[in-house]
Amino acid sequence: MVKQIIFALTILLALGVFTYTIRRLFSYFRFTKASFPVRDFRKRILVTLEVAIGQTKIFRRPVIGFFHALVFWGFCVILFGSVEMIIDGLSGTEKSLRVIRGLHNLIMASGDVFALLVAISIVLFMIRRLFMHISRFEGIEMKKVSHQDANIALSMILLLMLSLMGMNAAYVQMQLTANETIYGVYPVGAIVSSLFTGLSLNGLQIAYEVCWWSHILLIFIFANILPYSKHFHVFMSVPNTFLTRLEPLGKLTNMDDITREVKLMLNPNATFETPAANAPVSRFGVKDVEDVSWKNYFDSLSCTECGRCTSVCPANTTGKMLSPRKIFMDLRARMKEKGPGLVKHGKEFNDNKSYLRDYVSEEELWACTTCNACAQECPVNINHPTLIVDMRRYLVMEESSAPSGLKTMFSNIENNGAPWQYSAEDRLLWAENLEMKIP
Ligand code: SF4
Ligand code: SF4
Repeated sequence: MVKQIIFALTILLALGVFTYTIRRLFSYFRFTKASFPVRDFRKRILVTLEVAIGQTKIFRRPVIGFFHALVFWGFCVILFGSVEMIIDGLSGTEKSLRVIRGLHNLIMASGDVFALLVAISIVLFMIRRLFMHISRFEGIEMKKVSHQDANIALSMILLLMLSLMGMNAAYVQMQLTANETIYGVYPVGAIVSSLFTGLSLNGLQIAYEVCWWSHILLIFIFANILPYSKHFHVFMSVPNTFLTRLEPLGKLTNMDDITREVKLMLNPNATFETPAANAPVSRFGVKDVEDVSWKNYFDSLSCTECGRCTSVCPANTTGKMLSPRKIFMDLRARMKEKGPGLVKHGKEFNDNKSYLRDYVSEEELWACTTCNACAQECPVNINHPTLIVDMRRYLVMEESSAPSGLKTMFSNIENNGAPWQYSAEDRLLWAENLEMKIP
């Protein structure tokens, strides 16, 4: 009973802190703008199965991708075992899911094997991070804290797996010593249990409880650290993949105000719904966090900082300042900075800083070729070019700021109806002496 009360208080505390953090992070969504409507659920489920569950993009780098996929699948399987531990902790029972018999055996066996596979994968990841020079883990946006964050998360996952293996092994040995039934199948635990031979039943009980509590407390601590780190993608990556922008990569979103103006120019008699008189005057494009869409912010919370986008970016690989990973890391950091002020003082809050310029420079934005390689490569289907283009839209439409070559092209379009500096009447001069009929 004492164990149950302590466990209930612990889970309440962990849930309370987690809810507080998530509510704070999600409260910033109300300052973001609308994005595409979420429909076509069949297509979304297929994308989620392919990209998130099947890890297809991760497998583009087959070796390390395989180990990453093992960690992802391992987490999914081990989750069932964690649910059983929570039921056991609250009800004071042991192996409560044993009522589902064969399925319980399967869940326990896969969780036990995956614990070992995940632990091996994590050790490999740590060796790569600590002793090998992997270029995509470097970059101006990858500060010391980013590396520390990754190392802490990897260490915690390793401890989680070790405690799980220890718990299973102690359980097997404890049941064998007590001549009791072993509920579930533990292929790895059965091998590792030999480490506990020689311990008395009391000693085995203590070893089991120590591993049990270590594992469950690590889960609670890890879950509460995640929202402050890049590993928040553990929660966000699957929903973000489900919320993928389904339009073809490279397709630009029209701006409603501009579409209306263009249509009016083409047909002055056309009638359109006029915006309500009291509707807030919105800014063209993106300057700060309140101009981004909810999807942009969701993307920033889902970024794993893996650097796959930056590693395929032609601008980055040719030495330009642009790193698509930085665009989303900066958005998350800026929201973290301005969000509390927005919540406290409302949408008018101004801290005399902005996402554009204080975080992302014009040089970075104009280096983008809009090739969409980053969006194609991102394992959680983040779309970088749409945000980059929206920031450029702000620069051009609100500040008339663009590289000189583009400014010349804009004025040519305005004056001549074409990007070139010749008037429309002179357009066919080049064909004057050709022996062909010009209509
Ligand atoms: S779309 Fe822009 S940011 Fe993305 S890979 Fe191409 S150049 Fe880089
Ligand atoms: S945007 Fe995507 S590819 Fe780039 S670092 Fe984040 S998760 Fe990785």
